[in-house]
Amino acid sequence: MNAQLPLAKTNGQDCAPVLKERGQREVFCGLTGIIWLHRKMQDAFFLVVGSRTCAHLLQSAAGVMIFAEPRFATAIMEERDLAGLADANEELDRIVDQLLERRPEIKSLFLVGSCPSEVIKLDLAKAAQRLGAKHAPNVRILNYSGSGIETTFTEGEDACLASLVPEMPQLDASVPENLVIVGSLPDIVEDQFIRLFKQLGINNVASLPERAVANLPGVGPNTRYLLAQPFLGDTGQALKERGAQRIDALFPFGVQGTTDWLNAAAEAFGVDARHVETVLAPYQERAKKALAHQRDRLEGRSIFFMPDSQLEVPLARFLSSELGMVLTEVGTPYLHQTHLARELAALPAGVQLSEGQDVDKQLDRVRSVQPDLTVCGLGLANPLETEGLSTKWAIELVFSPIHGFDQAGDLAELFARPLRRRDVLRV
Ligand code: SF4
Repeated sequence: MNAQLPLAKTNGQDCAPVLKERGQREVFCGLTGIIWLHRKMQDAFFLVVGSRTCAHLLQSAAGVMIFAEPRFATAIMEERDLAGLADANEELDRIVDQLLERRPEIKSLFLVGSCPSEVIKLDLAKAAQRLGAKHAPNVRILNYSGSGIETTFTEGEDACLASLVPEMPQLDASVPENLVIVGSLPDIVEDQFIRLFKQLGINNVASLPERAVANLPGVGPNTRYLLAQPFLGDTGQALKERGAQRIDALFPFGVQGTTDWLNAAAEAFGVDARHVETVLAPYQERAKKALAHQRDRLEGRSIFFMPDSQLEVPLARFLSSELGMVLTEVGTPYLHQTHLARELAALPAGVQLSEGQDVDKQLDRVRSVQPDLTVCGLGLANPLETEGLSTKWAIELVFSPIHGFDQAGDLAELFARPLRRRDVLRV
């Protein structure tokens, strides 16, 4: 496996023109991110200011156990709030006071906006300031929006992390270089990466988010950051405004993506290329073996990505270049041309990309192409399955550990499993 992909200079210009659609969409809203973010940030609490629908979404998505004391809740806005008959700010203050009194272990509280709070223009930024002043220094109060108006579900994480950037301690130019991995990763994957960076000789590594919001990494002109997720446009911009520099790389999916991601960091930190090769070789070998098992099942099979998680472009690159899958259409809610430039350049020439959604038109294209596998949201999967098409739930890719060398085989297996099930049913 080459350490570096031979990337075209034209940054995705080999792809067919991007089909831009602005019609009806079928995706979860940004509140969904709370499910994985509250597990990651163990001293944080997420208070959604929303409706019963929002509460229902969270509880069913999280599968809350009745015995658990969860670290998220919904302050439900009643009809009189929505009609402007009550002072929503007063009620919010009362709920936050009660919550913090009952749960003194909460050190960071996120007020999370929703469609209803946006519709009545409840100013959660001001509420966070007001309540933050009242509860300082014991509790830090932040806010972001997870509203479903014009957002897709992974944007909730982007908005949450962007709200943390102004809280990161300022480092000045005299502080040695530090590396920040940006994006919420399962602890096991984050530990693997930090071990690998140590082996490479990069020791000053932190994550955004860390497991405790209280331990936010510092940022300054000597900070380099590596995006672990492709859906963090606002967070990247906020870090850039704090002086940090993005390390341009493929995303760490599969052997090629992970190699490129680690190589790019090593190069930015001046690590000797031969040392990098020696350190990475055993990991690459193990991952390649794991992928070889899946390649037999996936090679030549066609795949259609509906726009959902914003992971579509890097995953399409992985499936096409390392497993030989045939890309029919790669749809994504938003195409961040800068962050995805290397990914786009690594896609096969002429592949159809689409941005945004007009769900009926896109379903017509799925039916006309008849792909072996369609990656889509939960709401579309069942109807397509009844039509005889195999599907993969996009949200599962966000919940599963899929980054890095050790997860490459599992990532491929996520795509192979529905095809295997279909083959068995056919037999
Ligand atoms: Fe529905 Fe909007 Fe609440 Fe999300 S934020 S659950 S889309 S009402």
